[in-house]
Amino acid sequence: MFDAAPLLRDVFGFDAFRPGQEEIVDAVTSGENVLAIMPTGGGKSLCFQLPALLREGVTVVISPLIALMRDQVRALQEAGVAAGALTSGNTPEETEAVWAALDVGDLKLLYMAPERLASGAAMGMLRRIGVSLIAVDEAHCVSQWGHDFRPDYLRIGELRRALDVPLAAFTATADAETQDEIVEKLFDGVPPRAFLRGFDRPNIHLAFSAKDNPRRQIMEFAAARKGQSGIVYCGTRNKTETLSQALREAGHSACYYHGGMEAEDRRIVETRFAREDGLIVVATVAFGMGIDKPDIRWVAHADLPKSIEAYYQEIGRAGRDGGPAETLTLFGPDDIRLRRSQIDEGLAPPERRAADHARLNSLLGLAEALECRRKTLLGYFGEADVTCGKCDLCDTPADVFDGTTPVRMALSAILRTEEWFGSGHLIDILLGNETDKIRARRHDQLPTYGVGKEYSKPQWQAIFRQMMGHDLVRPDPERHGALRMTEGAKPILKGEALIQLRRDSIRKAARRPAVKA
Ligand code: ADP
Ligand code: ZN
Repeated sequence: MFDAAPLLRDVFGFDAFRPGQEEIVDAVTSGENVLAIMPTGGGKSLCFQLPALLREGVTVVISPLIALMRDQVRALQEAGVAAGALTSGNTPEETEAVWAALDVGDLKLLYMAPERLASGAAMGMLRRIGVSLIAVDEAHCVSQWGHDFRPDYLRIGELRRALDVPLAAFTATADAETQDEIVEKLFDGVPPRAFLRGFDRPNIHLAFSAKDNPRRQIMEFAAARKGQSGIVYCGTRNKTETLSQALREAGHSACYYHGGMEAEDRRIVETRFAREDGLIVVATVAFGMGIDKPDIRWVAHADLPKSIEAYYQEIGRAGRDGGPAETLTLFGPDDIRLRRSQIDEGLAPPERRAADHARLNSLLGLAEALECRRKTLLGYFGEADVTCGKCDLCDTPADVFDGTTPVRMALSAILRTEEWFGSGHLIDILLGNETDKIRARRHDQLPTYGVGKEYSKPQWQAIFRQMMGHDLVRPDPERHGALRMTEGAKPILKGEALIQLRRDSIRKAARRPAVKA
């Protein structure tokens, strides 16, 4: 095994692999011939870019899409990776620079259009420069019967034979015949290691729950699974310690694990977890890489994960043996605030921060989903054909209502106070509470003052949480977390769009007083 995690983070800026990526990266890096079918948007490029960095020598990437190649080369260069492209779109200077880098052995990834393979000069050059891997994007272009047929793709097999190096072929679309053709033309009929399955893990039950009394929610979840091996992921080191203590007091066998522990102590936990039945590890995300216990029966998140990718990877540790496995992910407004501020306060460049917000939004969308979690999750990874029946929303469909009116009230309170306040004060305005802050700011003069008495304070908190979940509002770290509207809020405010809210969490909020996490 190679440690891909630091590269994944530092070069590509991702905190977790997406479905399927890790296995493919492992196979490609260790020099196997690979055919991988992944949905569009599933993250194919990482599956050859990361191995290219882990392997000695140059990786040649063949792709028919010039604009896409140029984008990838630019992104790699910005991340500090020596990459170049030889395409018809090049300026002479660009081509010159690529040749120069190749001459001094300075390039890790060389992108090429298939047409280039027709020239003897290119073939000769590729023989000289120490190619150690060929990656073929859009591999279905080799199929003479498909509409994307590229005659030059037929030269790739020849190139592979000449260089005698491993080849990794990727495509989003390949029925059984196309797959056979790819194997025939690119691999001389010798079947490569194939990754053709979808990314669904049908044995894993998915469930989310708004934080209500989070400690009790986790304790109840664990109590119902007593004696089974499980993991509880927490947002802080401190919480792993207190929660594992509570679990032990409730009669479970439990221990904690986080990055602040001595390596030796961590190893003891890892070994115990591998050997013992029914141990619960309460951990930060530091626990995971390299754990391949097949019979983990459940994974719970006491706090919301970082991104939809991290969520998938963490729940994916359950039920590797194919047996039934259950998951529960808790989330609350504090999690959303914390995750947002971690992104905003991080050192990442602005584009990466925007992408991180988007990935967090996808997870929040999943948390607030109104129909099947599995469809929502796999849809995000590009998989359209999903059957489920194993998630909380398939078990009990969400009870929704038209929440446009309360959401518009809340948005208007935000607008009237010029986006300078957090949900606590905004709720006081909506409820018509007479606080010092209200009086001092003369917010009792606002037209929105007291318009929201129909709902209780906990109900309003649930509404604000769902608004954050739908990314209608975001806390602004430069305004002490004051809520500001996103573009998505405008059509609702203007009356051009409706919004549905989940009734259950609002009803639940009404039943019990809100408890802080
Ligand atoms: P494909 O070629 O399969 O259509 P790409 O390789 O272009 O997909 O990736 C699609 C998107 O997914 C890109 O925006 C990429 O940044 C993102 N992505 C890929 N891998 C990950 C990951 N592990 N975590 C988060 N985002 C990822
Ligand atoms: Zn479902």
